Amino acid sequence: MGKVSCLIIGSGPAGYTAAIYAARAGLKPLMYTGLQQGGQLMNTTDVENYPGYPSGILGPEMMEDFKKQAERFGTDIRFGMATKVDFSSKPHKVWIDDSIEIHADAVILATGAEAKWLGLPSEKRLNGSGVSACAVCDGFFYRGQEVAIVGAGDTACEEAIYLSKLCTTVHMIVRRDEMRASKIMQERVKNIANIKVYWNSVTDEVLGGNVVEAVRIKNTKENTVVEVPVKGFFVAIGHQPNSAVFKEYIITDNQEYVVTVPGTPRTNVEGVFACGDLQDKVYRQAVTAAGSGCMAALEAERYLSEHGLI
Ligand code: NDP
Repeated sequence: MGKVSCLIIGSGPAGYTAAIYAARAGLKPLMYTGLQQGGQLMNTTDVENYPGYPSGILGPEMMEDFKKQAERFGTDIRFGMATKVDFSSKPHKVWIDDSIEIHADAVILATGAEAKWLGLPSEKRLNGSGVSACAVCDGFFYRGQEVAIVGAGDTACEEAIYLSKLCTTVHMIVRRDEMRASKIMQERVKNIANIKVYWNSVTDEVLGGNVVEAVRIKNTKENTVVEVPVKGFFVAIGHQPNSAVFKEYIITDNQEYVVTVPGTPRTNVEGVFACGDLQDKVYRQAVTAAGSGCMAALEAERYLSEHGLI
């Protein structure tokens, strides 16, 4: 059993930023990285919208920079997965890989979220080569070209609108004859001339050798198939926040995102803070995750000093 002041769970931009701030505040943070050290950015190629990298940077390289910066100030970074927690009494208890027991006065949850995918082999094969789950991250690469997007929620609508400003045509694939998105978003989509909606339609296959070249769309009502040439294929069918292990103690919403006190990283449990995509279903950017990681560390430090724990 180990005892620390500040335990950080997760190693995306939120977790590493929390670590940098916590370490510089003298909290000697311990971080457990989770299985995918570096988080979702490890699956991306060029990141061009993170301030401070004027020429862009590869996602994995950027996360290596984050890691080095966290280590430079003394963060103890270890590989392991939080598999059980007990936040019913203090100090808080977290088990790593079902065996290592850690007691911590403050815990920062930064386990992120994962994009949901359709499950097509072609989608997996061309991931990062035209297939993406983030229009704001990757839309720029397809400016002046045709793209497709799957989904009909607020995210899909928002991303279709974003893409419509960059791309010549956005082919939006909707599986039912109506959208789940809020009325206002649906209206916006319908009023944009270069968004073409395919109702009652599913993605039959993403086509292409080394990069996306086209998408085969099947209308399930009419049983017809069309092949549409596109350079980018965006999947916007929702995300799954990695909150399952905390749910017994931490309040989550109906989509399993951790609920925080508005404008703060505070959860319903004193001394437990949440940051990054685990608690953000709207912005989901590396820079917003990093910002919320900073807030979590500042709150953790305030909490520890107010309670005489540092
Ligand atoms: P949602 O779960 O709301 O929507 C997912 C969409 O993807 C649905 O239209 C669903 O279709 C479709 N879908 C799911 N699985 C498949 C599949 N296998 N094939 C094809 N289509 C599929 O996710 P969002 O990410 O859009 O939104 C999540 C939450 O975040 C919502 O509460 C939303 O309101 C909120 N949000 C708010 C924003 C804002 O306030 N600016 C911006 C973005 C999101 P179907 O409807 O048929 O089930």
